[in-house]
Amino acid sequence: MSSADDRRNVRAGHTHGGGTVKGFVHKDRSPPPSLNDSLEGEIQAFLTDEDQLHTYDDLTKVNPVTPTTVLKCLQARYSVKVFYTHAGCTLVALNPFQPIPHLYSLDVMKEYHCAPQPQEFKPHIFIVAEEAYRNVQGQLEPVNQSLVVSGESGAGKTWTSRCLMKYYATVAASSSVVKSQHTVERIEKRVLDSNPIMEAFGNACTLRNNNSSRFGKYIQLQLDRCQLLVGASVQTYLLEKTRVGCQPANERNFHIFYQMMKGATDEQRKEWEMPRGQRFVWLPNAEKTVDEDCFHETVEAMVHLGINAERQRQIFTILAGILQLGNVNFSSSTDESQPCNLEEQSKDFLQRAAELLRVPAEELQMCLRVRTLKAGKQSVLKPCSQAECSMRRDCLAKVIYAQLFEWLVTFINNSMCADKSTWCNFIGVLDVYGFECFQTNNLEQLCINYANEKLQQHFVAHYLRAQQEEYVSEGLQWSFVKYQDNQSCLDLIEGSPVSVFSLLNEESRLNRASDSKMFRVRLEKELCDNVNISWDKFSKVPHFTVAHYAGKVNYQIQGMVDKNKDPVPPELSSLLQKSGNSLLHQIFTDKETENLTSKGLSKVTVVSKFKNSLESLMKILHATTPHYTRCIKPNPDCKPLTFKKEEVIMQLEACGIVETIHISAAGFPIRIPFSSFLQRYGLITTYSKLKSETRVDLEADSDVLQREVEKLLRVLLQTHAVDPSHCLGKPNSWVHCGRTKVFLTQSMLDLLEDQRNKI
Ligand code: ATP
Ligand code: MG
Repeated sequence: MSSADDRRNVRAGHTHGGGTVKGFVHKDRSPPPSLNDSLEGEIQAFLTDEDQLHTYDDLTKVNPVTPTTVLKCLQARYSVKVFYTHAGCTLVALNPFQPIPHLYSLDVMKEYHCAPQPQEFKPHIFIVAEEAYRNVQGQLEPVNQSLVVSGESGAGKTWTSRCLMKYYATVAASSSVVKSQHTVERIEKRVLDSNPIMEAFGNACTLRNNNSSRFGKYIQLQLDRCQLLVGASVQTYLLEKTRVGCQPANERNFHIFYQMMKGATDEQRKEWEMPRGQRFVWLPNAEKTVDEDCFHETVEAMVHLGINAERQRQIFTILAGILQLGNVNFSSSTDESQPCNLEEQSKDFLQRAAELLRVPAEELQMCLRVRTLKAGKQSVLKPCSQAECSMRRDCLAKVIYAQLFEWLVTFINNSMCADKSTWCNFIGVLDVYGFECFQTNNLEQLCINYANEKLQQHFVAHYLRAQQEEYVSEGLQWSFVKYQDNQSCLDLIEGSPVSVFSLLNEESRLNRASDSKMFRVRLEKELCDNVNISWDKFSKVPHFTVAHYAGKVNYQIQGMVDKNKDPVPPELSSLLQKSGNSLLHQIFTDKETENLTSKGLSKVTVVSKFKNSLESLMKILHATTPHYTRCIKPNPDCKPLTFKKEEVIMQLEACGIVETIHISAAGFPIRIPFSSFLQRYGLITTYSKLKSETRVDLEADSDVLQREVEKLLRVLLQTHAVDPSHCLGKPNSWVHCGRTKVFLTQSMLDLLEDQRNKI
């Protein structure tokens, strides 16, 4: 693909209103057929055109729109290496799982950017990028934009987000420089350099994706009055910190640890107590090499963002200390009044962990093995069981890592965020974890799936509902296409007065010894009327099942309340405040005043914090113009150019793509207020000797304007011998007049524009 012409749409034979696509939805129209519905005749008719399937740039042109036909079309396109397809307002992106040369090159970016009508080019993520970029300026006033990228793990969300960022860093480059202590960098470079750092610390190799993001992120690219990129800020969501101390079978810890192991110099190895060949329990599958194991790149990005050598040393020694902690084990104690001992070989690891974290070894050991209970003004020491010791060790690692990650995000923000006076608009890119359903699901999955419910609701509210409501308010005939409204599921999870979250928070606050049991009993009792939740009473492992819009998920009850409390023993936080590592000292001193109570418990529970951060995100999304990209993972094994139908159909159904296409295909994508319509096309009648009898006063009221518009349309359609079934008032009409606007199909618009050009 080298020229702009090559990239022009090959318009499929089926066009809106071309006789093959349903023009309007009638009252008696049945809901979209499911995969099992027959409709065989129609599908067969569609499939006779199989050679042409790959040419359908927009799934709304597929006829009929069923999961099968949509699937066939995507498969045909994938087989000829076409990875992007429009689905009305949504872009569907299929993951090629192999680099596609030139698809994202600078030249291609420029072509999309410079095109008068990029929409006419072949579907591409750059069309979405460019549309948002042009929209920011707005016709009347500037409008902030959000690019929402969704899809399951490995579908290509992060890749797509990076592409979008690169696009803006290229087409909107301001080339302004930012200075920090030791560096001077161009802002675009800084913004892009935030990616490798955040991915090194927040991504990991999982069974589903070698570079799986274990946190969500919303990055706002800040644009000045001239629409140049002058800064950025990033908000992160729910880092999966448990991974630091516990990696699921056949998965790995965060990339950064492996990067250090593989990329450190001999000198660094010595300093970090990481001799070659040393085995760390918390570094499983270290032999597996992934592209992301690139320490050098992370360090370079750190330098570019202004993290100086001393800070880097502090960061890496903290991480090295965490690794040593993972090798510390405790032996079981027969005498409950005595603390568990360290296993013999663990003593050295604990000593080294203390040295690297710059805390006294004795005190570290004490904190892990003995709990301090406060009774009034008195303190009582209680030895911890073996399991408790391990839990405290894991907790220490988790809290250090999570705080370090948060510190990094704040640093990155400080180094790339523009002064408020210099930017006026933003384009936000949202890359959050997709829907998750594993063998065992816990609080993390509940939060992730809740986030996906929220996003789905946003999509439904903004697109499906808004579109239909406009038809109704304009008095157009419309039978509501059935779509899944997920409000009841959201009520179940977060609603008031009683929901899963409210019960979870209450149990966390009450802090009872048998909280899991109580949580289960209350769920069953207080939510028994809710259709979105169910239980298998005979299951050995207590769980509850939530019917999400994307499918049912079983959540294990055991441990959920505890995860929600996410307690940090106070001894541990005070130990870290004493650290001689000034970074560690700083992040825990700040944290203490900000978030921890004197009892060391986090004031806010995990779900309340997550709910709050999601609510702020939703507020931002509602205040921006959204653009949706649905990434699809064509096969579960991440194999290049391999398309597994079952895999894809499940994802299409999960994100409601067929419903979206139905509404787009059946509707009228172009809406023009009467006065603007007459202003633009009023001349057609005069010049084409169709003679408009009177000059229309564009200020006249709607009824007058409507009559004028109808007159113009009637004459035009008759003169051009358009099939009578597409004429005004007919069910298959290309055009309808609402109360204030004209609703047009693309074919009608083409006809009007043709006529106008002839003037
Ligand atoms: P997760 O939810 O686990 O973070 P994700 O949706 O962010 O998953 P990515 O990490 O973006 O998934 O993509 C997975 C892999 O797929 C990438 O590492 C890359 O190898 C490949 N990939 C994705 N999109 C493309 C593309 N457009 N071209 C080539 N390869 C791609
Ligand atoms: Mg990702």
